[in-house]
Amino acid sequence: MGSTPAASAGPPYHRLLQRQLRNSLADGALPPGEWTALLQAVSEAYQAADRDRKLLENALEVNAQELTDANKKLRVFIDNAPVGIVMLDREMRYLFASQRWLRDRQLTIQNIVGKSHYELNPTLPQHWREAHRRCLEGATESGAEDPFVRPDGSVIWTKWEVRPWLDTHGTVGGIILMSEDITERKRTEEQMRIAAVAFQSRDGMIVTDQRGIILQVNQAFSEVTGYGAEEAIGKTASFLRSGRHDATFYRTLWEAIVREGHWEGEIWNRRKDGGIYPEWLSISGVKNGHGQITHYLGTFSDIREPREAERKILELAFYDPLTGLPNRRLLLDRLHQALIASTRNHQFGAVLLLDLDHFKTVNDTRGHDVGDQLLIEIARRLRTTLRETDSAARLGGDEFVVLFEGLNEDKMTAAITAEAIAEKLRSTLCQPITLEGEVHFITPSMGVTLFCDQGEGGDALLKQADLSLYQAKEAGRNAIRFYNLAMQQAVDVRVEMEAGLRRALSQGEFALNYQPQVDADQRLVGVEALLRWHPPGLAMVSPMTFIPFAEACGLIVPIGRWVLETACQQLAAWARDPALCKLHVSVNISARQFRQPDFIDQVRTALQRSGARAGGLVLELTESLLLDDVETVIQTMQSLKAMGVGFSIDDFGTGYSSLTYLKRLPLDQIKIDQSFVRDIVDDADDRAIVKAIISLATSLGLRVIAEGVETTAQRDLLVASGCEVHQGYLYGRPVLADQIVERPLPGASS
Ligand code: C2E
Ligand code: MG
Ligand code: MG
Repeated sequence: MGSTPAASAGPPYHRLLQRQLRNSLADGALPPGEWTALLQAVSEAYQAADRDRKLLENALEVNAQELTDANKKLRVFIDNAPVGIVMLDREMRYLFASQRWLRDRQLTIQNIVGKSHYELNPTLPQHWREAHRRCLEGATESGAEDPFVRPDGSVIWTKWEVRPWLDTHGTVGGIILMSEDITERKRTEEQMRIAAVAFQSRDGMIVTDQRGIILQVNQAFSEVTGYGAEEAIGKTASFLRSGRHDATFYRTLWEAIVREGHWEGEIWNRRKDGGIYPEWLSISGVKNGHGQITHYLGTFSDIREPREAERKILELAFYDPLTGLPNRRLLLDRLHQALIASTRNHQFGAVLLLDLDHFKTVNDTRGHDVGDQLLIEIARRLRTTLRETDSAARLGGDEFVVLFEGLNEDKMTAAITAEAIAEKLRSTLCQPITLEGEVHFITPSMGVTLFCDQGEGGDALLKQADLSLYQAKEAGRNAIRFYNLAMQQAVDVRVEMEAGLRRALSQGEFALNYQPQVDADQRLVGVEALLRWHPPGLAMVSPMTFIPFAEACGLIVPIGRWVLETACQQLAAWARDPALCKLHVSVNISARQFRQPDFIDQVRTALQRSGARAGGLVLELTESLLLDDVETVIQTMQSLKAMGVGFSIDDFGTGYSSLTYLKRLPLDQIKIDQSFVRDIVDDADDRAIVKAIISLATSLGLRVIAEGVETTAQRDLLVASGCEVHQGYLYGRPVLADQIVERPLPGASS
């Protein structure tokens, strides 16, 4: 074979093809758009090849081998193109199909041989057929993306293009159909669309890179935080920190994300307006194909809003809409809790059922509006009168319930306390109520029952209270009745006692007695003022009996003031007597009296009015005073101390005293309780306690006095232990002031 022009330079399609191949291989993968151009060139080359082949076959000496090689290369190229290619004649019969075409459509070459495209795809959509027809007329159609149903029923998405091919005469010989399988891309797009919709959810979302720099936030993020996307993007989420969590919190959070790829929990963040809010945050790491975290996705919901909604629901379910008080349901729940608590702490509680007297008449004559206003006012008074530990509820109508907790371990004391609070409530509710210029008088009837364990259920207790309420109504209304008879009697005593004490105060039935206190030389150094009550025509009542009642009902305050003033007057009187002018007068002060805000003034006034010297007055306090708010106690004591008043701790050893507090109190004296003195001779333990108290007092620089000294044996033991000031029957009983004289005392041994 000679070197023909075709052989030396190669046929034109061959050279073209080689160039294209070289380019495409050198560039790596071609972008899909360029495939179209390339394939155009290929198709032209193919047609040229066909033409050349015919020419060569017919007219020239053909280098058959070369032609076969070129064909093979072309074939490899076309089969590996990222689009499927098929060549059809004018009757849409297959002339050629690339491997990818066949693969995409699940066909083999046998399936298509001698077949037309429409025969093989009878359901081909109409708009495709029309595109084919237009193409056969010379047009090129492209760009559409359509689903294609394969023989097995599965669907692929294709992006197709049809263009005519020209035969050797330059007329359209048929069409070349190219189609790209874009199913994967479609799926990704769909997922992205779903993700985009999900991203615009009601929950706030933040996407960050692996360093935590914010890449994207959604609308809900901006709504909750107040920051627009442009303000957040590029920052780390730390600009939202509220300052409520410490470094450890954030460290633990990130450790969890690194370890488990996820963290979820409540976190407080700060909004742009400065307000801080709780949110439920969930952070997940987004991994790439190699399992490395590339992004973080944070989603959060502001949990304040649901809480608010939750609160509203709770309010409707558990509170009375008119008065805002708990309703029956919540009351029963609280009662249940109270029963459990009282079983645990052995403290009595009480249920008080309250019903307004003749409320129906008010409602009927004045209208429901006025009735409602009255109920609201009653609820307000209940709320403001009760202790913090008590709770009131409205059962419905004009029926209210009050739950008292932690009254006392002792049943009778608990009953008395409950009665005292109930009485306070009763008198508060009886105060006239002015509504729209009209004054209303409302009285309540109350039934009370006590509880101390879970034996009785809440409903049973309400029934008991209801029965006693009925009795209160029977007794003429505006009254309080207890369910249990013994309790009722205890309460009756209290009521009687209180009335008696009030009368005693106004009628001058009280008197002060004074009991001598002597020093080591048996000299009279002071006296203790002790209160006495002589109801006319009755036996004297012991302070041991009436003081607790006076304390419970608050009468101890005016009574105590009277004692203080009377004792100061006596102190001033003795000051004028040369023999007794150095006497100290000790006055017992109850905790409730001491805690009066004007107590310092009371003492100052008593001293000023009487002209008594402050240095002669000693206030006896008990350890119970130190049980709470020690700071205020210390302050009050210091102010009085500054005036010259002295302090003694009474009944020392029987209560609770913290040594730390004792050290801080401006005390002068400790008074050993008479219970230790009583048995000091026979009981080694008591002797030891007395010695310990004396050494404690000495180490704190305090004087020590023993009370209840009745015998010389007791006196001798006390002196031997180092306690030299004594008080007790050995030296004299409490007597009226005029019987206190400087004379040899009975207990004086010398
Ligand atoms: P207290 O302050 O510990 O008073 C000592 C009590 O022991 C007095 O009882 C006194 O009479 C009694 N007593 C004195 N020497 C002896 C003795 O040798 N043997 C025995 N067995 N007892 C003796 P009183 O007068 O019945 O007072 C009882 C308590 O009532 C007082 O205990 C005090 O806590 C309180 N009290 C008395 N007067 C007042 C007062 O004016 N105000 C206050 N808040 N409480 C007072
Ligand atoms: Mg005393
Ligand atoms: Mg005492």
